[in-house]
Amino acid sequence: MSTGSGMERKTAIDVAGVVKRFGHGPAGVVALKDVSLTIRDNEFFTLLGPSGCGKTTLLRILAGFEAVSDGAVSLYGENIAGLPANRRSVNTVFQHYALFPHMTVAENVAYGPQRLRRPAKEIAETVARMLQLVKMEKFAERRPAQLSGGQQQRVALARALAPHPKVLLLDEPLSALDLKLRQAMRAELKQLQRATGITFVFVTHDQEEALSMSDRIAVMSEGEVQQIGTPAEIYEYPANRFVASFIGDANFITAEIDGIIDGVASCRSARGLSFTLAAAPGGKPGDRVTLFLRPEKVRMEAPGDAGLAGRIQTMEYLGQSIFYQVDIGEDAPLIVAGRNRDDGGTPYKTGDRVSLIIGADALRMLAA
Ligand code: ATP
Repeated sequence: MSTGSGMERKTAIDVAGVVKRFGHGPAGVVALKDVSLTIRDNEFFTLLGPSGCGKTTLLRILAGFEAVSDGAVSLYGENIAGLPANRRSVNTVFQHYALFPHMTVAENVAYGPQRLRRPAKEIAETVARMLQLVKMEKFAERRPAQLSGGQQQRVALARALAPHPKVLLLDEPLSALDLKLRQAMRAELKQLQRATGITFVFVTHDQEEALSMSDRIAVMSEGEVQQIGTPAEIYEYPANRFVASFIGDANFITAEIDGIIDGVASCRSARGLSFTLAAAPGGKPGDRVTLFLRPEKVRMEAPGDAGLAGRIQTMEYLGQSIFYQVDIGEDAPLIVAGRNRDDGGTPYKTGDRVSLIIGADALRMLAA
């Protein structure tokens, strides 16, 4: 898939037809069904999906903590099937920063380069540079117990980066931090990845985290990759209903294609509403399809001739935005996100009749 950058980069990781089974027979679990993906050199790549979708299993396979049941994994062109974890140029940062409690911050960061038997001068320079990168240079002589959770996670990052692995695997490294710190660390992680040029493979179930940091995201569900793309591709053009609803808020309207002219389809919903939008590839008259619409792409106006007529059922005030559920005569109300305006006023209230303006570009057709 093209990301529009036009630049072809080296392949860092190639996962080809990977299957992972745990146990046998009826009690067995297939954690990965047939996963194939390519991660480029120097990419911030995220595995995103709900609990149990197999993302940690895939990360553990890359790390060398699990073997595949079938398929192949290569790292910079080298098949790593038989290569033990400590012989791969890969390091892992876990959710719970595993630091050595009896060592100082500087000693923790020096640990990797020391094991690689780097010269003392180089180690000292690396430690200083890494601590500077994660903004912990003032804490070099502290022990982990004397640091906050966020500081410990920074040290864990510095420690994992110090031996300069080709790939850094990150397993929900921010999930133990509070919301504010998590948000601040997102920007820092992204900067760290850019500054070091190391390929990052990041595991999370948090879609906002994935959207904000990643070059590309693989969305996973039940052991399968549902879609791979840039954050914008995945948000704007979800491949299917699962991706559309897992990333952000979404409206779905079931409809039938009445006709298609020059790639533009006219559709009719079960309750007779008409919509005009770009036809999905292969779509033909008579097909049942799902129309998909983000709540923020609907404009709400005072009732008029244009748009869909509706009535506000409920309102949810969320500070920055206000979510309205608008009855449009379909089975489910349409969710519409309104921005909280400068004047602080909420222009609409429950019970109001409104017109909903939906641009043809805002509606997408998904395979039903
Ligand atoms: P979470 O976000 O909860 O960590 P995940 O997407 O990372 O979830 P995995 O941990 O990869 O999911 O698990 C995928 C599936 O494989 C789950 O059904 C899980 O129960 C199963 N599984 C994982 N490890 C093992 C194991 N060692 N033995 C048996 N089943 C396992």
